[in-house]
Amino acid sequence: MQHETVIVIDFGGQYNQLIARRVRECGVYCEICSYHTGLDEIRAKQPKGIILTGGPNSVYDPASAGYTPELFSAGIPVLGICYGSQLMMHLLGGRVERAPEREYGKTEVAVDTGSMLFEGVSPKTVCWMSHNDYIAEPAPGFVVSACTASCPVAAAEAPERGLYAVQFHPEVLHTREGTKMLANFVYRVCDCKGDWKMDSFVASTIAALRQKIGGGRVLCALSGGVDSSVAAVLLAKAVGRQLTCVFVDHGLLRKNEGDEVEAVFGPAGPYDLNFIRVDAQQRFYEKLAGVEEPEHKRRIIGEEFIRVFEEQAQKIGRVDYLVQGTIYPDVVESGLGGESAVIKSHHNVGGLPDCVDFKEIVEPLRSLFKDEVRAAGRELGLPEQLVSRQPFPGPGLAIRIIGAVTPEKVKMVQEADAIFREEMARAGLDGDASQYFAALTNMRSVGVMGDERTYDYAVVLRAVATTDFMTAEAAPLGWELLSTVASRIVNEVPQVNRVLYDCTGKPPATIELE
Ligand code: GLN
Repeated sequence: MQHETVIVIDFGGQYNQLIARRVRECGVYCEICSYHTGLDEIRAKQPKGIILTGGPNSVYDPASAGYTPELFSAGIPVLGICYGSQLMMHLLGGRVERAPEREYGKTEVAVDTGSMLFEGVSPKTVCWMSHNDYIAEPAPGFVVSACTASCPVAAAEAPERGLYAVQFHPEVLHTREGTKMLANFVYRVCDCKGDWKMDSFVASTIAALRQKIGGGRVLCALSGGVDSSVAAVLLAKAVGRQLTCVFVDHGLLRKNEGDEVEAVFGPAGPYDLNFIRVDAQQRFYEKLAGVEEPEHKRRIIGEEFIRVFEEQAQKIGRVDYLVQGTIYPDVVESGLGGESAVIKSHHNVGGLPDCVDFKEIVEPLRSLFKDEVRAAGRELGLPEQLVSRQPFPGPGLAIRIIGAVTPEKVKMVQEADAIFREEMARAGLDGDASQYFAALTNMRSVGVMGDERTYDYAVVLRAVATTDFMTAEAAPLGWELLSTVASRIVNEVPQVNRVLYDCTGKPPATIELE
């Protein structure tokens, strides 16, 4: 099924993915293309509208990112944002130059509410600005539709040609009425109907998977994380028992997690598929015995994971398709979508395809952002605790135990972590921190319990606030919560007599301890 599509042409701006997300939140499918993508290729996608992003360059610099001016006479509405607005003016004969006063941050903007873009917006509204250059003179045929105290052309338009330019960033939430402006663009200017909804995604994806796979056999490595779970359910709904999910319990999962995954995907759960749970705890513990160096631990777990999976794959025999839970930010980061440099070539399960005999990889979530994956998971009836699950590293608790891993230490960290999560939920704070967990330091110290000397381990609590997980700040959790958690952990978890809170941000620390 072909959805109405808006294309974002990426000129290297910081908020490119945000633009696509906001448009999708408006109910219209949106994809990001690099500015190197030719106009013909973009036309072939039959977009209802095009949005040009911000970017670090100055349009009057001959070496800066450009585009063919034919874009503006292709009969497709275009919205230029920041650099994109400057480029539109520059290519159509306006004048862009260094602004006498740069603007950065929340800025009051006076808008012409008679413009289709600003329909329903307050005449004076706060917008997010981030520019050094400005439009000194709009291109011929354009009228100015917004200004600020120091920016005479904060927006300009040529409505009969479907061309709109805004100097500010409507995609950033600091722009108070930005979503309304984007909705005006896609609905009023581009005349979209809004056919991008998670229920239609789910239905059309299941139909497309069924058609593609036919009678073929499908294999999925299930981690219990959101992405692989949602991918597995889509395939289960599409091809039922042609799908086999292999779930490896390496003994480094959070408390009860293995059973939770089995309850959903196993024979007692609501889906019709083949589920294989491999209880490989012992193997992993043996391989990890005495190993202290973090990278070494990671390697051992990665390799052992492949061995276990390989053994299962041999039992299953030849499969036609291997499922991966790749999502859209992975695709963009791999340099396939937008303008960002290749950060990592993405494999959800490192090295896996090499050890399995299969014809093709299927990635049903390739076009979705994380929050859309979650919405699809809810639509598919996955339990909330699974859908809203926090990120969890592949090597699991092994990297939340400093030094050598032992089954006893795993148990300690599982119990402490469960208490922390329980209290966060009870305090209603689980939505405030982006990620939080307990880890076990390798430090023992002296304590006193019941008048007796103890010499036990210290647990460290970590909670961070972040939007992109690239940088993070320690979450300022309340004292009451911290002391409740600390006293419960010391009382309920044997061999722990001290609880610490990690106040470091990333950088300089990382979110995980190893
Ligand atoms: N580099 C351009 C300027 O400084 C555009 C900035 C942007 O797109 N955020 O004005």
